[in-house]
Amino acid sequence: MTEYNAHFRCFRGCAGTYSIFEVLYTCPQCGGLLEVEHDIGALREGSADSWRRLFDNRVGTTEWPYGSGVWGKKEWIMPTIADDNVVSMYEGNTNLFWAERLGQQIGLSDLWVKLCGNSHTGSFKDLGMTVLVSVVKQMREEGVPVRAVACASTGDTSAALAAYAAAAGIPAVIFLPEGKVSPAQLIQPISNGAHVLALDTDFDGCMRVIREITHDGDSPDSSIYLANSMNSLRIEGQKTVGIEIVQQFDWEVPDWIIVPVGNLGNISAIYKGLKLMKDLGVVDRLPRLVAAQAAKANPFYLSYLNGFSQRVSVEAQTTLASAIQIGDPVSYEKAVQAIQETEGIVEHVEEHEMAAASAMADATGMYTCPHTGTALAALFKLLQREVVQSHERVIVVSTAHGLKFTPFKIGYHEGTLTEVESDLANPPVYLPPDAGIVRDTIQRKLA
Ligand SMILES: *Cc1c(COP(=O)(O)O)cnc(C)c1O
Repeated sequence: MTEYNAHFRCFRGCAGTYSIFEVLYTCPQCGGLLEVEHDIGALREGSADSWRRLFDNRVGTTEWPYGSGVWGKKEWIMPTIADDNVVSMYEGNTNLFWAERLGQQIGLSDLWVKLCGNSHTGSFKDLGMTVLVSVVKQMREEGVPVRAVACASTGDTSAALAAYAAAAGIPAVIFLPEGKVSPAQLIQPISNGAHVLALDTDFDGCMRVIREITHDGDSPDSSIYLANSMNSLRIEGQKTVGIEIVQQFDWEVPDWIIVPVGNLGNISAIYKGLKLMKDLGVVDRLPRLVAAQAAKANPFYLSYLNGFSQRVSVEAQTTLASAIQIGDPVSYEKAVQAIQETEGIVEHVEEHEMAAASAMADATGMYTCPHTGTALAALFKLLQREVVQSHERVIVVSTAHGLKFTPFKIGYHEGTLTEVESDLANPPVYLPPDAGIVRDTIQRKLA
């Protein structure tokens, strides 16, 4: 059996490697982001075919922990975790929805929506959190004094952290921007027994406070472990989204993958997974990546407009796409690489565009969150500009379940959302219990 290994290394290329079981979030030399580096030589000993076969054979198995979409690719993700320390809800392996009807309406026959929200806590944040919490469990088993895990969140990260920490019996501390997450997202960590702190600030403000509370290494505060995507352990699990999409097409690479972005961890992760596949010869090209932002919180779009010559941050304005309401994204440098190396594009959309795209998708049988609406609206624009061509295969990553955003859905169909014309509003009809009136109403509706 080949031994596989992984460690932290500075993303900018400073010398030195660090154990993934060390409490460390940023490079001790330059303060930049770390990334998990795999022993590519050992991984290359397996042929491309043997990797494909191994991963295909594990889908849906009950053999712990390989039935998980993340842990089914354990050798590529976090090989040095003992199976007993894996904290998994069998996340991943989410369905790829052929959006046939929506595709017909917009003139794109090969449109697919990767339903990452069909997961334990209802968003794709489960994918990264299973890895991070498993590493923490192993650290605690080995005597590293981690008392709790903590994160700042726009809602979905905290829901995922709280669930996985509760399953592992590890205390969780959650920092939420007060009044800026959906009711479902607020009640999830409360139900899972996390310590929920609602701060009178925005996400970027929460991030600043948590950075002060969770220090690297030997400081007295280092016993509270940071679970934000600044912690590159998260990226390892999140990178399975791209790998899984390719696997679901029998290892064929699509033309485009479109993903809504905020803190920029996930698009970086998708690129990292695809790049690993290419390095191992499992695929021979990369899809083009599209990062979709809300115009109300569009620092990455503004940076893209200046050719990434200058990193822009903004004060994020209120957007329906609250999980991506972020003005100073942490994984900026990694995401720039993801866009540049894939001939990628950054697009932004107005509130009414995301709400309309979401409603249009719902009318064809989906139930989309506003972030998925953001990605769909970006696609509509790129199609209109003929950047995306009608014969191409396009994957839109649906990042959360629509059921987590009920106030958005109600607001749309009641016509009460700010800056949104509810052209597809479909309110209920209130009638007396009279068969005649009911019959007439149905006739009128179906006419
Ligand atoms: C976290 C999140 C995103 C964006 O991911 P980043 O890594 O922050 O860019 C998009 N959609 C939803 C629903 C999310 O929870």
